[in-house]
Amino acid sequence: MKRNILLNPGPATTTDTVKMAQVVPDICPREKEFVALMRELEEGLVKIVHGDLDVYSAVLFCGSGTISMDICLNSLLPADKKILVIDNGAYSRRAVEICEYYGLPHIDLGMPMNSLPDLGKIEGVLQENPDVALVYTTHHETGTGLLNPIREIGALVHKYNALFVVDTTSTYAMRPIDIAADEIDFCMASAQKGIMGMTGLSFVIGKKAAIEASASYPKRSYYCNLYMQYEYFKQHGEMHFTPPVQVIYAAVQALKEYFAEGEQAKWERHKRVFSAITAGLKELGFQIYMPDEIASGLVAAALYPDDPNWDFTKIHDYCYERGFTIYPGKVENMGMFRLCALGAIDEADIYAFFEVFKEALAANHVAIPLKQR
Ligand SMILES: *Cc1c(COP(=O)(O)O)cnc(C)c1O
Repeated sequence: MKRNILLNPGPATTTDTVKMAQVVPDICPREKEFVALMRELEEGLVKIVHGDLDVYSAVLFCGSGTISMDICLNSLLPADKKILVIDNGAYSRRAVEICEYYGLPHIDLGMPMNSLPDLGKIEGVLQENPDVALVYTTHHETGTGLLNPIREIGALVHKYNALFVVDTTSTYAMRPIDIAADEIDFCMASAQKGIMGMTGLSFVIGKKAAIEASASYPKRSYYCNLYMQYEYFKQHGEMHFTPPVQVIYAAVQALKEYFAEGEQAKWERHKRVFSAITAGLKELGFQIYMPDEIASGLVAAALYPDDPNWDFTKIHDYCYERGFTIYPGKVENMGMFRLCALGAIDEADIYAFFEVFKEALAANHVAIPLKQR
């Protein structure tokens, strides 16, 4: 099979063995054989964040990563309570929009997108608003590469007895996470990112006791209710409605490969890939948006050069035709593109990419070294 190198922020490049795991005899997902597979998957997903299976559970949903954000926000808020969203990037902005769509009482705590959040400010808001029952933050703002200090934020959240929900979609199974030590009550991800599976399956991992407590909270969605899905899975070992069968076979294979590679070795590989990306960009004269000290080490957002011949679409198309996908940036009014260290790739792929990328710049008469604004 042709191997494409995806440098976009997900879906990620996958192994052929994961792709091929989807090709299985037709099966009804209500069969025992499939139920056993689902249980294996559920436990594996909790183990990735070192969760105690007596305390934490993974709840699976059919949908892209945003479904997990939607579910946590609409399901885990008690009546007459508020959500606090620490808003310092496009994904926390999306969480705010979800609150708006459901009409959930919330505080949108806007923070700069290129520096660490001010913990004093967060604590101030928690002090002044004892009705905040849920604090939401994005671990890694995939649009910019900012890594939020979840352990420190989580400690504050727990000091004020709120629930801490962290969007770990773009760090889960890449950067090591320890759900208890990192003060996380709920985290989430989708199969096409860190575990390097297929699109269409997402999961929320969190405290069983908190899910059980949410049984009495207002129900704001039918399909996307955390408690309903959790309870059904507990009783029957199945998702309430039709699961993405083939995607689940791929996810089970992806988890086998995850545990075979190992948490630390995989993180070292992502770091290697990221170093090769930033070195390649800097060598050409690109400026990277996020300072290294506060970056996730998974996404590099590079500013467009000051060159009339620079045309992202043309550069993208040149690379795409040769098997490499690059991706636009996500900061309003700032021209930038992203190169991401997700997926089943290694530094040799990045060296190969930069050969093609340099050709693309030359073919478009972009002057090297680049001029920056
Ligand atoms: C990818 C991603 C999501 C989910 O996006 P989908 O397009 O719905 O898969 C959510 N949060 C973060 C931080 C992400 O990187």
